[in-house]
Amino acid sequence: MGERSGKSILIAGAGPTGLALALELARRGFKSRLVANAAGPTPINESRALGVNARTLTLLEPSGVSAMILANARRLTKFKISAAGKPLLTVETETFRSRYCPIQILPQGETERLLKQKLSAFGIAPEWLTEISSLSGDVAKPVVTLQHADGRTETVEPDMLVGADGAHSVVRKTFGFAFPGKAIESRFFLADYRYAQPVDTSFIELNFLNPGVLGRLPVSEDTMRYLSTVEDFETRIDHPAMVSERTWASEFHISFRHVETMSRGNVFLAGDAAHVHSPAGARGMNLGIEDACWLAFLISEGREQDYSNLRMPAVKTVIKDTRRNTTFITLKNPVLTGLRSLLLPLANRIPGFTKAFLHNVAGQDTPPPPWIPGAQ
Ligand SMILES: Cc1cc2nc3c(=O)[nH]c(=O)nc-3n(C[C@H](O)[C@H](O)[C@H](O)COP(=O)(O)OP(=O)(O)OC[C@H]3O[C@@H](n4cnc5c(N)ncnc54)[C@H](O)[C@@H]3O)c2cc1C
Repeated sequence: MGERSGKSILIAGAGPTGLALALELARRGFKSRLVANAAGPTPINESRALGVNARTLTLLEPSGVSAMILANARRLTKFKISAAGKPLLTVETETFRSRYCPIQILPQGETERLLKQKLSAFGIAPEWLTEISSLSGDVAKPVVTLQHADGRTETVEPDMLVGADGAHSVVRKTFGFAFPGKAIESRFFLADYRYAQPVDTSFIELNFLNPGVLGRLPVSEDTMRYLSTVEDFETRIDHPAMVSERTWASEFHISFRHVETMSRGNVFLAGDAAHVHSPAGARGMNLGIEDACWLAFLISEGREQDYSNLRMPAVKTVIKDTRRNTTFITLKNPVLTGLRSLLLPLANRIPGFTKAFLHNVAGQDTPPPPWIPGAQ
């Protein structure tokens, strides 16, 4: 199944978390096996995550993936906030002093393809259409039944099993990891529009509709994403050019949940399998990649039993931040939304506000990786 120290490692899931884990293990000489029930990486035009933050670029620098991301990604230079179209606040990202811009834009499907491409150089390919159909044994000795696309079943007993199998993780559920937390009331709506010509993709904009919010994020040079808490949001879009096509639309509910421990025995959880939260702050994929990089480092040091204690504080920080951001953007009370419009234009005058905001967007509010010299 894969070894350096004689231990076999099975990774359930080949999303950004599973791919990053297999790659970080491989570059350290650990060959893992990676299975996923999907047919391949996320289709580019159904990419949930768009933001790759500075912390992720730092983490993926040793594998060479960051250089590939930078060659393909779009730089964000501004965050704009307005209310009913009236500008309230602009934060310039260029003031951020770090090796990387706080956040770059690259659709999740493209990031996954770059990780997969680098992984292939180590002779590892995800086994697509391979489902974990059942799990037995216990956390000391997990037994995994795989169902292959041709109907074949296979039973494996890895020394380590990593659940990177997303929010509905079968690994988490079967091995009895609690997943406390709750869903928020607001529904979120999303639509991606492709235009007949390139559009300005250098900024993200949040427009408070009071009540509700409409966000605009770049996807690629001619495609924009609109995210809203208001069902008829598409009638409120001020399109920057002639629409060619609506390439994707979706609707979702948001929960804030995390496991209480990220490992038990020889079973480990990473990414959405261990934590879910709102997309406000663009942290989900980035946090999953960070879990993966820490787990690979700790496995290579023979310290995998430290994983949960080292990662849980980072997970709790990010959940707290995204909950605060989500509460702020989904305010309904007219007194509070009025106060928000009054105070936001003053934010740039508060010493340290811009720095703290960008530090957070860059994902640098969690402990830096000790294996990368000078990492922020
Ligand atoms: C609208 C929206 C916008 C978002 N924007 C951002 C953003 O800008 N930045 C950001 O960082 N994050 C963002 N996210 C979150 C991000 O998409 C997720 O956090 C990320 O996909 C999690 O990656 P993962 O690898 O942990 O899980 P997933 O991407 O869910 O991958 C799970 C993998 O497990 C496999 N799998 C599942 N069950 C089984 C099984 N039984 N057997 C075998 N394989 C299985 C699947 O095939 C897949 O390969 C956003 C999310 C949403 C909903």
